[in-house]
Amino acid sequence: MSGDRLSTAEVRELDAKHVLHSWSAQNAITPVPIASASGASFTDADGNTWLDFASQLVNMNIGHQHPKLVQAIKDQADELCYIAPAFANDKRSELARLIADRAPGALNTVFFTNGGAEANENAIRMARVHTGRHKILSMYRSYHGATSTAITATGDPRRWPSDGAATGVVHFMGPYAYRSAFGSTDQEEESRRALDHLRQTVQLEGPGTIAGILLETIVGTNGVLIPPAGYLDGVRQLCDDYGIAMIADEVMVGFGRTGEWFAIGGFDVEPDLITFAKGVNSGYVPLGGVILSDRIARTFDDTPYPGGLTYSGHPLACAAGAASIKIFEEEHILENVRDLGERVLRPRLEKMAVDHPSIGEVRGKGLFFALELVRNRDTREPLVPFNASGADAEPMARLMTACKERGVWPFSHFNRLQIAPPLVISEDDLVRGLDAIDEALSVADGYYAE
Ligand code: PLP
Repeated sequence: MSGDRLSTAEVRELDAKHVLHSWSAQNAITPVPIASASGASFTDADGNTWLDFASQLVNMNIGHQHPKLVQAIKDQADELCYIAPAFANDKRSELARLIADRAPGALNTVFFTNGGAEANENAIRMARVHTGRHKILSMYRSYHGATSTAITATGDPRRWPSDGAATGVVHFMGPYAYRSAFGSTDQEEESRRALDHLRQTVQLEGPGTIAGILLETIVGTNGVLIPPAGYLDGVRQLCDDYGIAMIADEVMVGFGRTGEWFAIGGFDVEPDLITFAKGVNSGYVPLGGVILSDRIARTFDDTPYPGGLTYSGHPLACAAGAASIKIFEEEHILENVRDLGERVLRPRLEKMAVDHPSIGEVRGKGLFFALELVRNRDTREPLVPFNASGADAEPMARLMTACKERGVWPFSHFNRLQIAPPLVISEDDLVRGLDAIDEALSVADGYYAE
C-alpha cells in the first residue's frame, strides 16, 4: 500500500475482503468507492457525480458536508469528545430543549440513542413499563429497524429471516387506498375501514394486553403512504379509549422531510412517544432518540428507567444535532421544502404521470414522493412483484441504471421509485434530476401492456 491514503483499487480490494455489507449477498454487489460529496451531490473515485435523490438512506437532510455543521463537530471535538450519559452535558441539554420545543404539545423529554432501531426498541420498552402490558401492534408495510424488537415490529420482508426474534408483536393493515386491503374506493372510506380493522384487532387481541400501537406517521420505505384525513386522529382516539401508548416513528420523516419539524405536526395529532434519528443531524454523527410525553416521562420519576447505552447523548452527535437545527432555521430549510415540494416537485411528477403510462400513482409531501410503477393502470399490476429479487426485479434494476447513467441516484423499493433529495437542494438541481428521471422512465414504460 502506498502513502496514507488507499488507492481506489485498494479500497475495492479491502472492501471485498473484509467488509460485510448490509442486506446483501456479498457476491451480488460491487460497492462504488466514493471520493467526495457536497450539498445535493456525491462523486465516485472515477469522477462520476450523481444528484443524491435518495439523501443516502433518506438521512442527508441538510446536504453533504455542510460547512457550518462540519465546523460544529470540529469545535465540539476540540472541547469534549465524550462523556458518559450519567453526567449532564451542555450540548445534550441544548439539543433536548431544541427538540422538545419543536415536538407537539406535551412531549418534552428526550432519551438519546445511536439510531432509529434503538429508538424504537426504547420507545417500546417505555410503553411496556408505563402500561404494564406487553403487546405491540404495528403495521404491515412498515420498517422500524433491524434490532430484535424493531425488526419484529417491521412489516416488510426484511423481517422474515428474523421471525421469532422477539415476542408480543401483532401486525395490522394500515390505510393504502391505491391497493386497499378493505376494498375501499376512496380515501375517506379507506380511513374509516382501516380504523374499523384496527379497532377490531385491538378488541380481539385484548385491549388490556396492548402496551402500544407503533406506526410510521407517513410510511417511508414501503411507499410514502400518507395517512388519509382522520386516520391518525382515529388511532389517537383508540389509544385513549384503551389506555394504549401511541408511538409515532418519525425516523425517516422527522426533521423537515415533509416540510414540518415532525410529520405529525401536519396532522395536528399528539402521540405519546415519537422516535427520531436520520434527519436530526443528517447522520454526520450517529444519533437517534425517543421524545416522551410528560405523562410517560413521569413513570420514570421514581421508578428507574430500565435501559441505557454507552453512547446515549454523545456530545459530538448532540453538538451536530443542535447546530443542524439552527442551520435549518438560518437557511429557512423547512420553507424551501414546502416551496419546492408544492411548486416544483408535485406538479412535475403529476405531469410525468400524464406522459408515462407506467406511473400508477404519485404520492408525497414536501421533498418526499413515490412513483408507484405498474404494468397496467387498470389492473394495477406492479412493475415488479412484491419482494422482487433476481430476474423478477430486473425492470426496476434497469430503470435505476437508466437514472444513474443520467446522473441521478434515486431511492427504490420493489415497484416504487422514491424521490427524497437533500432538503437544501436548489431548484435547478431538482429540475435537472427530474428531467433525468423523466427520460429514464421510458424504461418502465417499455414493460407496459394495455
Ligand atoms: N424507522 C424508520 C421509519 C426507518 O426508515 C428506519 C431506517 O430506515 C428505521 C426506523 C431504523 O433506523 P436505523 O437504521 O437508524 O436503525
